[in-house]
Amino acid sequence: MAMTGIQIFKLLPKTNCKECGVPTCLAFAMNLAAGKAELSSCPYVSEEAKAMLSEASAPPIRPLTVGSGDNVVKTGGETVLFRHEKTFVNKTGIAVLVSDAMTEAEVNARLKRFKELKYERVGLTLRPEMVAVKNESGDSGKFETLVKKVKTETDAALILMSSNVDAMTAGVKACADRVPLIYAATDGNSDALAKLAQEQKCPLAIKADSMDNLSKLSDKLTAAGLKDLVLDTGSRTVRKAFEDEVFIRRAALVQKNRSLGFPTIAFPCEMTTDPMKEALIASIFIAKYAGIIVLSDLRGESLFPLLVERLNIFTDPQRPMMMQQGIYPIGNPGEQSPVLITTNFSLTYFIVSGEIESSRVPSWLLVMDTEGLSVLTAWAAGKFVGDAIGAFVKKSGITEKVKHRRVIIPGAVAAVSGDLEEELGAGWEVKIGPREAAHVTAYLKLNA
Ligand code: SF4
Repeated sequence: MAMTGIQIFKLLPKTNCKECGVPTCLAFAMNLAAGKAELSSCPYVSEEAKAMLSEASAPPIRPLTVGSGDNVVKTGGETVLFRHEKTFVNKTGIAVLVSDAMTEAEVNARLKRFKELKYERVGLTLRPEMVAVKNESGDSGKFETLVKKVKTETDAALILMSSNVDAMTAGVKACADRVPLIYAATDGNSDALAKLAQEQKCPLAIKADSMDNLSKLSDKLTAAGLKDLVLDTGSRTVRKAFEDEVFIRRAALVQKNRSLGFPTIAFPCEMTTDPMKEALIASIFIAKYAGIIVLSDLRGESLFPLLVERLNIFTDPQRPMMMQQGIYPIGNPGEQSPVLITTNFSLTYFIVSGEIESSRVPSWLLVMDTEGLSVLTAWAAGKFVGDAIGAFVKKSGITEKVKHRRVIIPGAVAAVSGDLEEELGAGWEVKIGPREAAHVTAYLKLNA
């Protein structure tokens, strides 16, 4: 049973020192009870209180990881129903399905697309992270061989799908170091798969034919000591699966239902045979609230929009997306190449760098930290003004890379120019580039 804010408050130090980021211990206790704070934010909680608060401070939806190395998929850990309340934390893992009943050519084609379909956007690499390996043949040996192949040829976080305990055991042992998700424990095989998950320290998906039965199975397995569970209600119609996702999220966050406080997995690949409909269904479950989705195949025209949707849903609305401050060479620039300056708002960087690439004029792009504000907003806030830009240019190291002393600032107001020239000193020439970042290509072609 979850503790109330007042019950938690009684166990806190009550010094109101504010180090946890809120003004009072009572406010912190209320946030903790609502799942909006972590106990570790207060450095002064006694060990005794920590033990008592562990239940209350546990995230309402347990976070867990699938995979190992650089390509680990974190799922769960969400604390809000709506993105505008705070932020969604761990982006939906996207998996492609391969089966041991497919031809080798088909498996190879899917794995090739899995490896190749990656996109650079706003300084990030967008890609699918998971491969779901399905035992459709019923043959343990075939399944194990396919698991080994996927493990060897990709860095994917793996989902192993089989109802056959022997096949699953062989598959898990072939890739235990990759920490696969075992899919799925049901009433019939839960004891054996729970034992396997505990022995191999892997997360376990559970599947039932109703919400009640899913809760019972979850309770049974958590009582047996399993912590990392992923829920599948078994619904394969869009409407029912969507209702289940919302029900589970609300039950975990609003009703503090621990039985359903786990991430979920959804199967758009089993809800339609139409690739376009499948992409639309997948987009629904990225928004609400699947921890993992499994697609039948990967196609650039549907995968890219899904990845961009996911990027937008899982970025923190309270923090602008930012680039690192620094010098970005574009197109192998040299000592006489133009130097452009812009802010570190990701979208601004993305547009300006794209325009420079389109111009085919090798250039240096200086990105200045303006706390993620765009050019004019940063100028209005006094963060992208002449003297600040001048100080940045001088310490950026660009003078060691170019012999000329000209800088171009696309999108800035003319008022920046005089202050900047004064700050940089004699010999410098400042050009206010095109007012629209989207005109940089034409500007560079004309002025190169
Ligand atoms: Fe209270 Fe701890 Fe927050 Fe300080 S850091 S205000 S003691 S809850």
